[in-house]
Amino acid sequence: MRVNPLRTLILAAAGNDTIRRVIATAPVSRDVVRRFVAGETTEEAVAVTRRLVESGLTVTLDYLGEDTTDAALAEQTVQAYLELLDRLKAEGLSDRAEVSVKLSAVGQLLDEDLALTNASRICRAAEEAGTTVTLDMEDHTTTDSTLRILAELRTTWPWVGAVLQSYLHRTLDDAVRLSGDGSRVRLCKGAYKEPGTVAFDEMPEVDRSYVRCANALLAGTGYPMFATHDPRLVRIIGERADHHGRKPGEFEFQMLYGIRPDEQLRLAHQGHTVRVYVPYGGQWYGYLMRRMAERPANTVFFLRALMSK
Ligand code: FAD
Repeated sequence: MRVNPLRTLILAAAGNDTIRRVIATAPVSRDVVRRFVAGETTEEAVAVTRRLVESGLTVTLDYLGEDTTDAALAEQTVQAYLELLDRLKAEGLSDRAEVSVKLSAVGQLLDEDLALTNASRICRAAEEAGTTVTLDMEDHTTTDSTLRILAELRTTWPWVGAVLQSYLHRTLDDAVRLSGDGSRVRLCKGAYKEPGTVAFDEMPEVDRSYVRCANALLAGTGYPMFATHDPRLVRIIGERADHHGRKPGEFEFQMLYGIRPDEQLRLAHQGHTVRVYVPYGGQWYGYLMRRMAERPANTVFFLRALMSK
């Protein structure tokens, strides 16, 4: 995808170990990280979830960690989800809060079968807690594997959600395929640095693709979940949902924790289901870098906080 130089630089930094070490050990203001990340512990994640739920929002929680090439770390991630799901149930939050899982954090890069086994354990715990799981989508090299694992999981847990990224050329076909009964699909623009061979070059093309995919999902019989902060797309989705006869509650909006919180509440007060994606855990670096890359204003906020230390 053609992007501005700052975005390219920041996404390169997201994958650079030296920069990662420097930033991760810099005295980054707690407030900067806390604007986008709920905290490092289950307790903190549950406290933020409770606050959001009490304000009328729903939640999907992501235990931060990705690209694990170590089975022990993958196991640690699974344990974190099991503990979280237990707590959500105990706290009476599991009817309003689900979990999002990155398969690369539970072993996908090591072995697809390991990721499937680990994701199954999380789905079983979610079922016991009375909630659902959505599989985040990562870079395009993992799309086929993630959709294979999704299909396998859905044979036992038909409510497992998928994520599709409108910047990929393939996504309209995937949206049509996944628009049937029982399917839950989160549609987003996509957050990774992708080559022009697989992804649209220009933002307007990504947006047009978003609307085409949204139409496909709204025309189907599944439950679409529109993840975007883009005011224009939010408005268009409202209009397209009306056109397809979808009432509030028959689709949902999703936004990231800390981004456009007023808009999240405005939509919820209009009667829409709004789900906030709440990341937590120690591995916040890659997540934060992607948020910086998306929006120069986030980067300015981050740099100002760094310099004020
Ligand atoms: P952008 O194109 O980034 O911004 C469009 C407009 O939105 C801006 O011009 C501005 O008006 C408004 N806006 C955006 N950010 C802000 C802000 N901080 N403050 C105020 N206004 C703002 N990506 C993946 O690749 N895989 C996933 O699994 C995934 N899951 C996601 C889950 C959720 C709930 C969300 C919200 C996003 C997820 N993403 C995921 C990220 C997504 O792909 C985009 O990178 C990200 O949402 C930015 O795109 P956007 O649609 O918000 O709009």
